[in-house]
Amino acid sequence: MSQAEFDIVVIGGGPAGYAAAIRAGQLKKRVLCIEKESLGGTCLNWGCIPTKALLDDGAFIRKLRTNAAEHGVTVQGMQVDFAKLVSRSRGIAGKLSNGIASLFKKNSVQHIVGTGQLLEPGRVKIVGTNTPERIVIAEHVVLAVGARAAQLPGIAFDGKTIITSRQAMALPNQPKSIAIIGAGAIGCEFADFFNAVGSDVTLIEMLPTLLPNEDQEVSRLLKRTFESRKINVILGAKTEKSEAGANGVRIALSGPEGTPRTVEAELLLVAVGITANTEGLAAPAAGLELFKNRVKADHQYRTNLKSVWAIGDCISLHWPAESSMAGYRHPDLAHVAHHEAIYCIERICGHAQHEIDYRFIPGCTYTHPQVASMGMTETKAREGGRQIKIGKFPFSASGRALAAGEPAGFVKLIFDAKTGALLGAHMIGESVTELLAELVLARKLEATEAEIIESMHPHPTFSEAVMEAAGVADGRAIHL
Ligand code: FAD
Repeated sequence: MSQAEFDIVVIGGGPAGYAAAIRAGQLKKRVLCIEKESLGGTCLNWGCIPTKALLDDGAFIRKLRTNAAEHGVTVQGMQVDFAKLVSRSRGIAGKLSNGIASLFKKNSVQHIVGTGQLLEPGRVKIVGTNTPERIVIAEHVVLAVGARAAQLPGIAFDGKTIITSRQAMALPNQPKSIAIIGAGAIGCEFADFFNAVGSDVTLIEMLPTLLPNEDQEVSRLLKRTFESRKINVILGAKTEKSEAGANGVRIALSGPEGTPRTVEAELLLVAVGITANTEGLAAPAAGLELFKNRVKADHQYRTNLKSVWAIGDCISLHWPAESSMAGYRHPDLAHVAHHEAIYCIERICGHAQHEIDYRFIPGCTYTHPQVASMGMTETKAREGGRQIKIGKFPFSASGRALAAGEPAGFVKLIFDAKTGALLGAHMIGESVTELLAELVLARKLEATEAEIIESMHPHPTFSEAVMEAAGVADGRAIHL
């Protein structure tokens, strides 16, 4: 075994790992990134990006199928080439992954294709895919190994009829029917896509709403929209068991709305959460502390081991008890992983000591209509006993939305009644994922509803709905 020396070794090349490695390179550190698969991790290869390519194709198809006549267009003999959609999505993922390799070169990041294992603080073993096993020595080690789809107890993935999101986005053929367990962002996005391309979709959720973490008004509108498109939405239903057969899968459900019933489909996609890739990540002798299979990290991304740090989807965050963020769950999102990476590396390098405010993490779901939110829901704000002001502006009153033929949805903003501070933003409608950054910035700069109203929004844009919603909260909206 050979030995090498680095300032920082990063294990994992997803949004957490590659951003950490690039930032370390920018700060002139000798840095190595070990990645066992493709650079870009889940996000670029099997998550954020390829799903959005599929969803945009789905929206295009749906618009042609259902709205063309409204726009004065007659479409005849339309056919969908499912394999082409999948290959476009895979092509985009491949292109972006190659882009990370170029960024590594530009920033002098060394990269080894292989599996990294922490032997002890400062020593990492690499089992290379095409290279001999070796050990590298580093002053700091950053663990950024991400996560994979979690299984439901008793429902094992077989890759054929019971599949993960990864398999769902690279299917060789379009399924006639698909059942999806889990109506979080991933489950809802796949329901939207498969419905758009013409598969029969059943979406099953144990909790009483779609997107259970979202504002209830948003979840209700998404449910109504899905049902109007003939997606079979089953809420409050527990999956008891599933049996794969020659023609598909039978799923036995129980629960308030699903008492007891069976769903049959060609494929079953299980999208109920993730489990961290921590098996074998550290040699037992290293003594790395885990919590529920995730690497236990403090709010500055330190693990229990000296100079060993952890970021991204593989971590369980633990704040000091007195912190206002104590009790917040780690949001498993690419932009969170990215920001944790930057702050972790800057802390290691003694630069600015930023901290993320986990109470205001933006989150988006790219269904049609899209969903975007940040901060407290109305229910949470009221439960906390706060005096709040709510401003809600429907896209049906927006000239831009009407011109686009997209009048569904709304912007709902929640402000502290006394201070005018923005506590939460909840949006559903066309392009709302692009409106959210404005509200993240408003929150960061501690803008009040008055300052949002007084910031001139260009006309006609969807973004005017943000200004108008703030206006509704303050009793001075013009267009409602
Ligand atoms: P990952 O991206 O999982 O990267 C970890 C990397 O580490 C992997 O490449 C893995 O191969 C590698 N690795 C693991 N173990 C080792 C080892 N021992 N040695 C070497 N390499 C190792 N998030 C959003 O913000 N927006 C979205 O729209 C969105 N859509 C999603 C859609 C789907 C279907 C899925 C599954 C996820 C989606 N996510 C989305 C979540 C997002 O992909 C993750 O939050 C993000 O990828 C986490 O980044 P990470 O670097 O922590 O982990």
